[in-house]
Amino acid sequence: MSKLALFGGSPVRGRPLPKYRTIGEEEKRAVMAVLDDGVLSQFLGTWSPDFYGGPRVQTLERAWEAYFDVSHAVSLNSATSGLNAAVGAAGVGPGDEVIVSPYTMAASATAALVYGCIPVFADIDPDTFCLSPKSIRECITPQTRAIIVVDIFGHPAEMNEIMQIAREHDLIVIEDSAQAPGATYHAKYAGTLADMGVFSLNYHKTIHCGEGGIVVTNDDDLAERLRLIRNHAEVVVKNKGVTNLVNMVGFNYRMTEIEAAIASEQLKKLEGLLASRVAAADFLTRQLSGLPGITPPLVRPSVRHGYYFYAIKYDAAQTGVSRERFAAALSAEGLPLGLGYVKPIYLEPLYQERIAYGKDGFPFTYPGYRGKVSYEKGICPVTERMHFQELLYGDFCHANLEQGDLEDVVRGFRKVYEHISELN
Ligand SMILES: *Cc1c(COP(=O)(O)O)cnc(C)c1O
Repeated sequence: MSKLALFGGSPVRGRPLPKYRTIGEEEKRAVMAVLDDGVLSQFLGTWSPDFYGGPRVQTLERAWEAYFDVSHAVSLNSATSGLNAAVGAAGVGPGDEVIVSPYTMAASATAALVYGCIPVFADIDPDTFCLSPKSIRECITPQTRAIIVVDIFGHPAEMNEIMQIAREHDLIVIEDSAQAPGATYHAKYAGTLADMGVFSLNYHKTIHCGEGGIVVTNDDDLAERLRLIRNHAEVVVKNKGVTNLVNMVGFNYRMTEIEAAIASEQLKKLEGLLASRVAAADFLTRQLSGLPGITPPLVRPSVRHGYYFYAIKYDAAQTGVSRERFAAALSAEGLPLGLGYVKPIYLEPLYQERIAYGKDGFPFTYPGYRGKVSYEKGICPVTERMHFQELLYGDFCHANLEQGDLEDVVRGFRKVYEHISELN
């Protein structure tokens, strides 16, 4: 009879699962071509042809527009920059509230703070972990101007309902699809479902170029504002004849030619990489579905999940074993499971202490802010339940895992279940 690795038995996996690796000869050749040219970035922060960047940046943007069927793709040096630029382009500012998710990478919420807005945290849906439309409605006040929705773990948010709410209240919607490139919702790509969508090309994402981000939109005016914010807007507006100066403080958010060349090659691989993720997740879900106390990722009808992580819900009441203990047992088998994902963002010191810009608590203390926001523990009970009690996630779906690796994952789960009574 086997013995749990936690108690000294031999683990299901003696060696770690393969790492995710997407960089190959194509990317190497593309980078070498840039180096041979010698122009590593062609951007100029003045109103000139080079205001829009060099040939690889342009090629990437046109390819991204064609792939995602959008009018504009604006490349940047990260998705964080993209979120910031999107909030700036939206024209919101001090005194305004932006509804955000508490269950995401911190940048999806701090983008609102960067422009002096107040992030208001709505709760998530307990099945997809994305913002719940009902909770969004409950958070709307006369101050609300925008919503930042996140397609967390790769599952698109409930965008039809959210866009309907936005239309009723005249709100701008930004979709953070950093974790969902290639995922679809009613036959449209995640990231293209809102006024602006933001993708990440950072090393940890489905496709990457080191550091990078892309914002997409079908709105010509928003696209031009994004390009201005990306590239020193304040010194460009006069010669370009820009009259709407709201949030036209510029940055250097520009992508280099090297990153753009890599990203163009990565985009060609996206469909294949995603298809592997979906196939792996479908296999795991079929195999793990029967296990008591485990709820595999739910996929809503008309959705293709992006499976950035394989996120499952765990019910300790059904197994009699705590989530921490269960994860420790599986991790000991060589199959690392993460607990809870990120802490609800409003519990971080920035929000608890309400200190962001300067020492006097701007924007929370801004006299022009007429609202009253709460960051108390308990404001988002579903998020807190997922983080503190139920959610487990593993990097179990990526394209470098072979069938034998996936079978090991399943064997690991089954082994822990066989011994579950020993874990008390
Ligand atoms: C990774 C990530 C970001 C930030 O992406 P960067 O390119 O690293 O700035 C934003 N939002 C979500 C949901 C992410 O996962």
